[in-house]
Amino acid sequence: MARYIFITGGVVSSLGKGIASSALGALLQARGYRVRLRKLDPYLNVDPGTMSPTQHGEVFVTDDGAETDLDLGHYERFTGRPATKMDNITTGRIYKEIIAKERRGDYLGATVQVIPHVTDAIKAFVLDGNEDVDFVLVEIGGTVGDIEALPFFEAIRQLGNELPRGGAVYIHLTLMPYIPSAGELKTKPTQHSVKELRSIGIQPDILLVRADRPIPSEERRKMSLFCNVRESAVIQALDVATIYDVPIAYHKEGLDTEVLAAFGIDPAPAPKLERWHQVVNGIRSPEGEVTIAIVGKYTGLKDAYKSLIEALQHGGISNRVRVKLDWIESEIFEKEDPTPYLDRVSGILVPGGFGERGSEGKILAARFAREHKVPYFGICFGMQMAVIEAARSLAGVENAGSTEFGPAAEPVVGIMTEWLKGNELETRASQGDLGGTMRLGAYTASLKPGSRIADIYGTTEISERHRHRYEVNRAYRERLEQAGMDFSGMSPDGLLPETVELQDHPWFIGVQYHPELKSRPFEPHPLFASFVQAAVERSRLV
Ligand code: GLN
Repeated sequence: MARYIFITGGVVSSLGKGIASSALGALLQARGYRVRLRKLDPYLNVDPGTMSPTQHGEVFVTDDGAETDLDLGHYERFTGRPATKMDNITTGRIYKEIIAKERRGDYLGATVQVIPHVTDAIKAFVLDGNEDVDFVLVEIGGTVGDIEALPFFEAIRQLGNELPRGGAVYIHLTLMPYIPSAGELKTKPTQHSVKELRSIGIQPDILLVRADRPIPSEERRKMSLFCNVRESAVIQALDVATIYDVPIAYHKEGLDTEVLAAFGIDPAPAPKLERWHQVVNGIRSPEGEVTIAIVGKYTGLKDAYKSLIEALQHGGISNRVRVKLDWIESEIFEKEDPTPYLDRVSGILVPGGFGERGSEGKILAARFAREHKVPYFGICFGMQMAVIEAARSLAGVENAGSTEFGPAAEPVVGIMTEWLKGNELETRASQGDLGGTMRLGAYTASLKPGSRIADIYGTTEISERHRHRYEVNRAYRERLEQAGMDFSGMSPDGLLPETVELQDHPWFIGVQYHPELKSRPFEPHPLFASFVQAAVERSRLV
């Protein structure tokens, strides 16, 4: 039977609860346990799909087509276990389900209430489908004390009594701020945070305390005493240079040992961490450096491109180089010549995006890459813009545009209202709901034998994750192919362009899907490994 580890956060947000949970998952896995990570998000959106990336960060898409919190990306990268739509639930989704049930009459006669109906629904979600795992790590979004998170805290409190004895462990992640005038790390915020948690009935078993310098043993004792946590279970979590060092660092501090001890499990033998050491060494001691420009529109919040940043780093690991990222707001190119920005970089990446703002700048970035033979990687929107650029400059389709920006004289990129998922037809109304209605999740694509992309993947059948509403219009295929842009990958029915590449160019590839979502530190995605390699070759030329 699965054991449960609940991870809550206190004091402030952004302490890295997602990474801490992922790292603990990885440590348990390195001891031979099967783990699953799940996230409870207290906001009212049904999923993060409709939130702005600059507010909420990246939307992580699972194989089964769910739009989820970016922490699920960390879970996958650290444990290699693909997440599913059942691994992330929000208040909005819980309420949607409950209200639908209420309307159907499922609760006939009852008053529907937060306790027990909402908490029951949360518990059912947490407990569901865990037959094949040893540990379920459940991260609760937000910070203790948030009004909206209360039903989630209440649900995990109840589970502590309902699971068999020794079936649940509570970890609380807090912060010790350093106060320069006192010259001390302070325990008080942690004390208050635990007090808040205990007031709703949860006594943490383990405190994971973030600090920017080592925690003196006196302070550790104090937290142990005031928070009612054994001293050995007050674990310091210091900053590390790379997130992939976190499992190693937390193991050194005894996190996994304490967790097992709290469950009454013998912590011997030690976890096998060789592959983590290899990844960290690869990042710490690169043999060179390469600069890649990311021409996007959410560059103000790096979390908006979380998986992309990680995938590029993985590509760096496989080429033994450090990948330096040059963030450029695409709108700049609509006012200024891109040359001074782009002639200093060895690769140009235009990532996914939505809406017209900045699109012309992205088109100009693709043009620069094509004309100057700089490696170009267009992802989703970045592919669409590269195709528009090629249509305008190479195929003579002067008014090429995307219907995403309004009616287009030449809809080289257009809305798609029908497509096949396996053998099933999916349909959408062009003016329908925006939430959850894109082409989402894993779809297979067939790559043209002999194409560069088939060569990179080493196969002609691939499966990648999608998240888009518009498609490159295959009506323009012939003209574009004659002009030098190959449609090297198509959906299996041959209707939807999945990848394009320029023939006369060292490395110019666009993909309609999001390969960054499937890259792992141990298994860098072949497209990122190849793109970084092309950038390294370019950097030797200039
Ligand atoms: N906005 C484009 C579409 O909906 C691209 C989406 C994306 O880049 N993820 O098709």
